[in-house]
Amino acid sequence: MFVLSANGDMISISPEDFDDSSVITLENAEETEWRCLACGESLTEETDGYADESGSLICDAYDPYDDPEIDDVDTAPDFREGSHRAQRVPLAWANGAAIHTNPDEDSITVTVSVGDPRGAFAFTVRRIPDDAGTNGGRLIMHTPYPGEPMPHRDLIEDHTGTYWVG
Ligand SMILES: [Zn+2]
Repeated sequence: MFVLSANGDMISISPEDFDDSSVITLENAEETEWRCLACGESLTEETDGYADESGSLICDAYDPYDDPEIDDVDTAPDFREGSHRAQRVPLAWANGAAIHTNPDEDSITVTVSVGDPRGAFAFTVRRIPDDAGTNGGRLIMHTPYPGEPMPHRDLIEDHTGTYWVG
């Protein structure tokens, strides 16, 4: 039997809901790709800089002494008059991830969605049935690959086993 856990803590589920076909889904609740390091606001990328949700390019928490692009504070914008300090939100590139154990297929599939949220890269390890003509009882692994029909995202091989996405 599989035990579900997240970050080392068991996930409790009632026994009547539980069979060994289990799916753990991690969804990314973060909707913003950029956040300001100084004021913490969600930012959007504009042609002339990064704007907060009110549309302002000026950061209320701007501190010239914290601005890494400023060598000489005398020439820097005043406090609360400089621009936001945009930082990519970690994991914002992912829609979510899931682990699916399937006893009927004798398989475990891990999916990671980074493109169209309806799809995902899928990595599956399964066992060939013992009564199969060849390779009975062996494990086989399926992974995404460059040139795959209907890919989640296009892959470009860097070297064996390592791909650039898109
Ligand atoms: Zn800011």
